[in-house]
Amino acid sequence: MQTEIFTHITEETIARCAAIIRNGGLLGIPTETVYGLGADALNEDAVRRIFEAKGRPQDNPLIIHVAEASWIARYCENVPESAYRLAEAFWPGPLTMILPRKKIVPLRTTGGLETVGVRCPNHPATLAVIRAADVPIAAPSGNLSGRPSPTTAEHMREDMDGRIDAILDGGACSVGVESTIIDLTVSPPCLLRPGGLPLESLRQVLGEVQVDKAVLQKMADGERPRAPGMKYRHYAPKAPVTVVTGDPHASAAYIRARAGAHTGVICFSEFAEMFTDCTVKTLGSALDKSEHARRVFDDLRFFDGTDVTEIFAQCPDATGLGLAVRNRLQKAAGFCVVEAKA
Ligand code: AMP
Ligand code: MG
Repeated sequence: MQTEIFTHITEETIARCAAIIRNGGLLGIPTETVYGLGADALNEDAVRRIFEAKGRPQDNPLIIHVAEASWIARYCENVPESAYRLAEAFWPGPLTMILPRKKIVPLRTTGGLETVGVRCPNHPATLAVIRAADVPIAAPSGNLSGRPSPTTAEHMREDMDGRIDAILDGGACSVGVESTIIDLTVSPPCLLRPGGLPLESLRQVLGEVQVDKAVLQKMADGERPRAPGMKYRHYAPKAPVTVVTGDPHASAAYIRARAGAHTGVICFSEFAEMFTDCTVKTLGSALDKSEHARRVFDDLRFFDGTDVTEIFAQCPDATGLGLAVRNRLQKAAGFCVVEAKA
């Protein structure tokens, strides 16, 4: 199949994208988090093709993307009042809520679960497509399974050219990491994935929030994760990654002592000059976590086009957006993490 790229967002391209969704096709959609691989969430055949195009395991559920909070009641039941408070505070935005599904949402979409993840994305073009199609769009991240998530239409083309009907180019993603996932079917609510909305912001609205242990550490063999996606290898470039935590001066010194000509280094821009003999990509200033989030997947992807045999990465502390950036780097590293001591 020929994958069409829509570079201009017009009434006509929105209508054509909505028609692709209504006809059971596959569409690359821009969102503020990462690009998604979208299809009609209520059409089992279309959803099956998402899994095939990505090479995604069938038990890894999809998030459904809705146009506004009032759509929650179309697809979910026993909705707690907290869901509407969160939607009021953070939608459209990088927050996915896990709620009990209505039967209209196929088990194919939910990976066999009786719950469904729902989000309202903050991108005008994608919101227009959802409204025009008048169905929720199921969309995982638009990468091949296991690869870093796409944050530009070009990344998505690299992975999906020839596999999907079209990609709607809505520019580079403004957040750059996937949505925060909160499970509202348990009490207290549980953070299943850190993402573009900080945990601190959720706590301001919800009070107590638990953090699933898979957010911070590797799952033991045979352990059953609460977010099925957490058990799969993720975001990984071809060369092995080691994450170095700790004070940035200490982590830079740690990497410097081990890096050579075939080392890839992901570092804060303040330290880039220490690694001129290596292949370097920066996360932006050590002080700017929003920039780390925007750059982390592009940095990981970059090294696949180089001859590096190992990658060391500096890493922000775990507050604010740092929790999500750290989680993505740790997963890319298969939880190979060392702490540099000052
Ligand atoms: P991605 O589409 O790549 O952002 O991955 C979606 C993530 O949402 C995966 O980690 C899924 O396991 C998680 N997810 C989606 N629906 C549910 C659900 N009903 N319960 C728990 N986790 C979910
Ligand atoms: Mg993904």
